[in-house]
Amino acid sequence: MSGSRESTKSAEEATDRADLKAESDDSSEEEEVPGDTEMDFLRSLFSRTLGLSPGEKVLDELSLEGVASYIQSGKCKNVICMVGAGISTSAGIPDFRSPGTGLYANLQHYNLPYPEAIFQIDYFKKHPEPFFALARELYPGQFKPTLCHYFIRMLKDKGILKRCYSQNIDTLERVAGLEGEDLIEAHGTFHTSHCVSQFCSKEYSMAWMKDKIFSEVIPKCDACNSLVKPDIVFFGENLPSRFFTSIKNDFPNCDLLIIMGTSLQVQPFASLVSRVPKNCPRVLINMEKTGQASFAAGLLGFGGGLDFDSDGAYRDVVYLSTCDDGCMALADLLGWKAELEELVKREHAAIDSKDASKKDATANQSSECSDKSSPGPEARKSDYQ
Ligand SMILES: [Zn+2]
Repeated sequence: MSGSRESTKSAEEATDRADLKAESDDSSEEEEVPGDTEMDFLRSLFSRTLGLSPGEKVLDELSLEGVASYIQSGKCKNVICMVGAGISTSAGIPDFRSPGTGLYANLQHYNLPYPEAIFQIDYFKKHPEPFFALARELYPGQFKPTLCHYFIRMLKDKGILKRCYSQNIDTLERVAGLEGEDLIEAHGTFHTSHCVSQFCSKEYSMAWMKDKIFSEVIPKCDACNSLVKPDIVFFGENLPSRFFTSIKNDFPNCDLLIIMGTSLQVQPFASLVSRVPKNCPRVLINMEKTGQASFAAGLLGFGGGLDFDSDGAYRDVVYLSTCDDGCMALADLLGWKAELEELVKREHAAIDSKDASKKDATANQSSECSDKSSPGPEARKSDYQ
């Protein structure tokens, strides 16, 4: 995105525009995406205009209790979670693209033309240093997943998680035990990195990138000497193609949508809420109500917003709290509370002991090697530390 400074009022706006651009770039390759959105728009326009019945009422009541009894009924087998920065804040990870978190202020000595430049692909290719300095500060693996992350893991363990769509790049879903196939990292991930040369695109592991970042060496490709960049989506880059292919299969089959810790401001992610079937209950666990239908959103083709309060509300539930508190309340209603607490305790202890043994190992040997050959959950965790 060739954003000029004067047009960039806030980081959030920049994010929104960048992601909109990302969508429009990708939609040239994914022609069915705008088609689907148009259909959704027409469908919701017709149902509003003609007063058609919105959909079958699935929940006994529009509350967390109603959601819990629906899950317990066994009719709910394809849960999709949509999550954002709010699920990671209790892990100590700031919502770093928002202004006022202090992170941008720390980058003053890099003389950025404007703070958001640090995440813009064109700027990065010329001046990668500020990004890697920030990456060193925010490097995934210095944080533990939250209770909310482990709640999502429990949905997987119970066999009812269809997919988790995350806007986060901190990889905490993976640390909490979700596999690559369980996850769509809509804004990319630190899990892998690639050479930025389109003629090369050589892939690098997280361990390789971590070594470069902490050695304060700008990562360069072994094969062609171009820059190597973690696979997070920068402003001006396309969303991962897997995002667009997966939503087509996942959302029409979703029977419960759980939205957590996201302000639903960033497209195309935000409009996903309208892609589930009309009778699919949607629950928002967040500090504030968000994603509600607006006339403007309808005009833009992002119809089907959340409806908690109108007379016609029939499927959307909001629980205003932190994501951890909301997940604990839902787990309690489901009779999963003790199991969830135990899971968090056990996993955090495993991470702590890995940290401790790693420190010992580092003290004993000057070099370490990362074992990429063992895919088990315990082995996998070592990749993040
Ligand atoms: Zn290369």
